[in-house]
Amino acid sequence: MADHADDLIDYEDDDEVQQEVQETTAQAPASLEPETTTNGKDKKGSYVGVHSTSFRDFLLKAELLRAIVDCGFEHPSEVQQECIPQAILGMDVLCQAKSGLGKTAVFVLATLQQLEPVEGDVSVIVVCHTRELAFQIKNEYIRFSKYMPNVRTEVFYGGTQYKKDQEILKDKERCPHIVVGTPGRILALVKDKHLRTGAIKHFVLDECDKLLDNLDMRRDIQDVFRATPHNKQTMMFSATLSKEIRPVCKKFLQNALEIFVDDEAKLTLHGLQQYYISLTENVKNRQLSDLLDTLDFNQVVIFVRSVSRANQLDKLLNSCNFPSICIHSQLSQEERISRFKSFKDFTKRIMVATDIFGRGIDIERVNVVINYDMSESADAYLHRVGRAGRFGTKGLAITLISSEDDKKVLESVQERFEVNITPMPEKIDPITYMTS
Ligand code: ADP
Repeated sequence: MADHADDLIDYEDDDEVQQEVQETTAQAPASLEPETTTNGKDKKGSYVGVHSTSFRDFLLKAELLRAIVDCGFEHPSEVQQECIPQAILGMDVLCQAKSGLGKTAVFVLATLQQLEPVEGDVSVIVVCHTRELAFQIKNEYIRFSKYMPNVRTEVFYGGTQYKKDQEILKDKERCPHIVVGTPGRILALVKDKHLRTGAIKHFVLDECDKLLDNLDMRRDIQDVFRATPHNKQTMMFSATLSKEIRPVCKKFLQNALEIFVDDEAKLTLHGLQQYYISLTENVKNRQLSDLLDTLDFNQVVIFVRSVSRANQLDKLLNSCNFPSICIHSQLSQEERISRFKSFKDFTKRIMVATDIFGRGIDIERVNVVINYDMSESADAYLHRVGRAGRFGTKGLAITLISSEDDKKVLESVQERFEVNITPMPEKIDPITYMTS
């Protein structure tokens, strides 16, 4: 079979969409010049006051309950309470709930609970938009299936050897029961009949609005979806689900349980403090270095708008003795995952990232997010800052505002999510954003 996987575009990378001018020669790091660009108490979202319910109430398998205890989960979050009881009965789910409140565990637990592993059969497909997220979700499956020795999970995404995936799927003893991956590679494996879809019982789309907004990705997902049996459970999740995308999602669903935080104001993360700093582009570096010197952070993610800016800022930070790493779409696959891992393992405390890192990624120790470049949309802002303050921990988000466009996005964030983002005060007490 022709190895055509790499001909398929990997659509997963936001930063490629931004009309990136390829970096030619590395500029002197200090000259990070501006580029000329064209461009407490909500219902489903809270984790407080819900401690009366326990995971035992869901009547999960003993192997799962043991793994949940090992993970240190004491009580289900509200979104878990709303979704898990129905999801484990095989019901379709469309769920929007704010970042960091455990949507992943909803589908991981619901699918593991229902799974009856059969040698050589793939029963669950989970599709998401970036390789790092796929990798993270696979690890969640590994964590929760710790006491289910017969259950195998694999992750498949572009930029890695197609042949390897092919071999794993061919070998009955290695063939996974759960497949997590990105759309291009999954579709290639399905089309080439390496990934047999006849036994699929659960189909999950994480960050589903992101997957379906892009028409090419949507087409790929539809193709994979059509190749699976009609009778299956489909579940979709995101922190943001616009009114426009909901009907598109519903086309994949039958009598779904729908959990929406309709009021966008409720998407605001309450443990997260949010500030902005107005400045001109040419003093951003100075400002950033002051912030890194003065803030108490466990780990920080700094978002920039393009690959070349990520590379340059990373170099600059390293030359100023701020040991950082950067992550973006133009790294090799191994490099991307190894950098992601080293950040997750706390070997580096500063990460410079493009929007590929903006959604879904869960790194517990990140308590500060800095938007060195403002995002292009209010939704993207919400996802980015959601990297800090995971699962109700405290966090701080600081956005550098240097243009009229930046201001407009900031205004729309404040209007839509009813959050008051004020100028950064002289002093912020670290207690307010450091989780003890
Ligand atoms: P989302 O997908 O909603 O953005 P995640 O599924 O990534 O959120 O979960 C965020 C973090 O919260 C993860 O580190 C996860 O392990 C943790 N978490 C999820 N559910 C619970 C729970 N019930 N108790 C404690 N921690 C949890």
